[in-house]
Amino acid sequence: MKKNILNIKGTKDILPNETLVWRYLSDYIHEFFRQHGYKEIINPIFEDTSLFNRSIGKETDIVSKEMYSWTDQGNNNLTLRPEFTASVVRSYIQHQLGKQNALHKLYYLGDAFRRERPQKGRFRQFRQFGIEALGSNFPEQDAEIISIAYKLYHSLKIQNLQLKINSIGSKESRILYKNDLKSYLEKYKSDLTETSRYRLKTNPLRILDTKVDFEKEIIADAPVILDYLNSEDKEHFSYVKDFLKQLNIPYEIDNKLVRGLDYYSKTVFEIHHGSLGGQNALCGGGRYDYLVEELGGPSTPAIGFAAGFERLLMAADSSSFGINSDADIYIISLGKNAIGYSLDLAAKLRSNSNFIVVTDMLQKTMKSQMKDANRMNCKYMLIIGDDEISKNIIQVKNMETGNQESVDLSNLIKYFS
Ligand code: AMP
Repeated sequence: MKKNILNIKGTKDILPNETLVWRYLSDYIHEFFRQHGYKEIINPIFEDTSLFNRSIGKETDIVSKEMYSWTDQGNNNLTLRPEFTASVVRSYIQHQLGKQNALHKLYYLGDAFRRERPQKGRFRQFRQFGIEALGSNFPEQDAEIISIAYKLYHSLKIQNLQLKINSIGSKESRILYKNDLKSYLEKYKSDLTETSRYRLKTNPLRILDTKVDFEKEIIADAPVILDYLNSEDKEHFSYVKDFLKQLNIPYEIDNKLVRGLDYYSKTVFEIHHGSLGGQNALCGGGRYDYLVEELGGPSTPAIGFAAGFERLLMAADSSSFGINSDADIYIISLGKNAIGYSLDLAAKLRSNSNFIVVTDMLQKTMKSQMKDANRMNCKYMLIIGDDEISKNIIQVKNMETGNQESVDLSNLIKYFS
């Protein structure tokens, strides 16, 4: 027997019973961001590998072990995007968007790829949506970004949201902190995992992110970044918190929150949801004031967030979306002559209304066509056979009331308009 070919581990087929919910949610996200004055940007799904090496950082898990990279026939090193910010910034610089407008508010929705270990809520191809605001270094921009993320979940009636915020300061604030953190962790070096020992050399801040219990105990008493912020960073963070209070957005300070990517500075945040299990982060983001310059553009402050589409779907109650996939009209055709009529009528009804109109394609008996119509929950069943054709009429049955009447074929469109 031939072996069936299956989808690749960590990818997912979105089947017809799920696609309507996906579409609803995608439309919802597009509209939500549009309402906040953000405009969509669509970038290629693959880029030069160096873009991600330079922006996300070589020492991050994503770049060091999770990227889908390959060399193409022209010897180019390419990578399927593991996230969107790098591409947005690349295109912001390339098209000199900063020259056209002091502030750019952009959003995206599309697929990202990471070779992570698949589990509930974690895939190798997944959808991300998010926003990026490039141009403002003011704290109100941070508050707007955080509030858009929070309100999106809130508006979809997702309960038990947990917003965690922190400030990892500007580069200046971090120099001293990094040193002190390093000295503290050096004392426990022999207790640390191999990964953390390596990170101690490359990026000690990342150790704060640890999921290992005994390391969590070690870092519980580690120096706290908030104590190292310079006065400007402190003031910025304090404004962000005040604005969030004014917006009635509940948050908690998590002084261990650093985010996995290298490019963050000052405000960082994540929104978690209790019921998602191990992978409970709905979204995460923060300021990345240095990234545009580091990628060769003009110095441009920026902030954004990235969110997981599948995790939003898991947290939301899709039965409350009010999605209806039922057919409106089912045309039953009896006999070969009626088939052409039913096709023609269906086309006319569709072009004159928003109705979902379906006809039989399997030359089924009247009884099984009726069964189909019932299964599809259609509102009207139309019946046409030789007798009706000769009299130029069609039978129209209202499935809700059970009433059936003959309608002149020439009046049918009007009947439904
Ligand atoms: P990150 O930038 O890694 O924090 O990703 C932002 C958001 O994308 C996360 O909070 C998740 O909701 C989602 N996400 C990240 N990686 C995956 C994955 N492998 N599968 C599904 N969703 C993911």
